[in-house]
Amino acid sequence: MMAAIAAAENGHRVRLFEKNEKLGKKLFITGKGRCNVTNACDTEELFQNVLTNPKFLYSAFYGYDNRRMMSFLEEAGCPLKTERGNRVFPLSDHSSDVIRALERRLEALGVEVRLQAPVECIVSGEDKGEKKILGVGLKGGRREEADAVVIATGGLSYPSTGSTGDGYRFAQNCSHTLTERKPALVPLEAKETFCRDLMGLSLKNTAVSLLYKNKEIYRGFGEMLFTHFGVSGPLILSASSHYVKKAWGEEAGLLIDLKPALSMEQLDKRLLRDFEKNRNKAFKNALGELFPSRLIPVMVERSGISGEKKVNEITKEEREVFAGLIKGLPLTITGTRGFSEAVITQGGINVKEINPSTMESKLIKGLYFAGEILDTDALTGGFNLQIAWSTGHLAGSSIL
Ligand SMILES: Cc1cc2nc3c(=O)[nH]c(=O)nc-3n(C[C@H](O)[C@H](O)[C@H](O)COP(=O)(O)OP(=O)(O)OC[C@H]3O[C@@H](n4cnc5c(N)ncnc54)[C@H](O)[C@@H]3O)c2cc1C
Repeated sequence: MMAAIAAAENGHRVRLFEKNEKLGKKLFITGKGRCNVTNACDTEELFQNVLTNPKFLYSAFYGYDNRRMMSFLEEAGCPLKTERGNRVFPLSDHSSDVIRALERRLEALGVEVRLQAPVECIVSGEDKGEKKILGVGLKGGRREEADAVVIATGGLSYPSTGSTGDGYRFAQNCSHTLTERKPALVPLEAKETFCRDLMGLSLKNTAVSLLYKNKEIYRGFGEMLFTHFGVSGPLILSASSHYVKKAWGEEAGLLIDLKPALSMEQLDKRLLRDFEKNRNKAFKNALGELFPSRLIPVMVERSGISGEKKVNEITKEEREVFAGLIKGLPLTITGTRGFSEAVITQGGINVKEINPSTMESKLIKGLYFAGEILDTDALTGGFNLQIAWSTGHLAGSSIL
């Protein structure tokens, strides 16, 4: 949609082919239906939140940054607000207002929107030894001629919204190569079965550290959730993108710090205080002020201290081991959930074959790419949509 708008603003006659019965099905579900359209950080921070190929996005971000996107939406009749972490949402909290603003602009510019019009292939030919775009192929062998084509078919995540990976096939048929595509910003699967027992338990103000081959590859703070297969929640989704990038297909360690605000020393003092108060109780009955009740049996079992042991019989060594467990409850991460549960796709069209100043293919003249189909991805916070807006705008405005 953004590429079509930018091309039409440059005076081109534009047709937009969407295979669904309406535009923006994925946009509609973004940000839990509120659409975190971008992040109001400074431009440097935009790059810092991109995990794959940030340098490739240099022209795209500097040419059309978060401020321009915010002005665009406000001018198109979608007022915005900025929340915690600089996350920007429509004032109404309705993603449909973002879609409507884009639709209004498409209409005002005379873009011809064809719904339920799945593109089946890209048609290219040769002119004086140079490969160039001729158009697109539609159902029933119909062909639409075009001087330029922008492929913005998205990634593989949440395929029910329309992103089923068609564009990758189009690109491969045009000799483009792909990097391995993996689900990212995705829940993580864990070996430990106690996750199932804790299913539905959400932990706020938690810190996690992700370890791969004895090296810390991610550390973060926030909210997480236990599920029947492992862990999820905003903190885990961020950790997952690092897992997928550096430890894909292998085991990694996740240490959950249940008391990140306390140092080991402070925690020991806190334990001493709690233990003194409950000195004649059984260990398992003395932890009510430390953890949510569902977590207590898991912590007791993992501590190696009998739940029946009197608190006043717990040794200093046992208390220290227990404090270590609270600061780093270990989980073994074995993999991720699939694309149907992933917010984005990591990997995609090899950016070495695309001109970063225009988003044009280096292999076929007049072929452009934009959005999640590219091998670039970011963390949560509105950064993935900003990639789509910026690359879409650059592709559309670069068409000669
Ligand atoms: C649950 C969820 C929540 C998210 N929340 C946020 C958020 O709040 N903020 C954020 O920044 N990012 C968020 N994202 C990520 C963000 O939605 C995507 O990165 C972004 O939508 C990618 O834009 P795109 O235009 O490249 O692809 P898409 O939005 O996937 O659009 C591609 C379009 O192409 C169409 N299409 C595909 N194949 C064909 C074909 N052959 N012919 C015609 N049309 C075709 C599809 O139907 C689709 O409409 C979220 C993702 C998910 C799944």
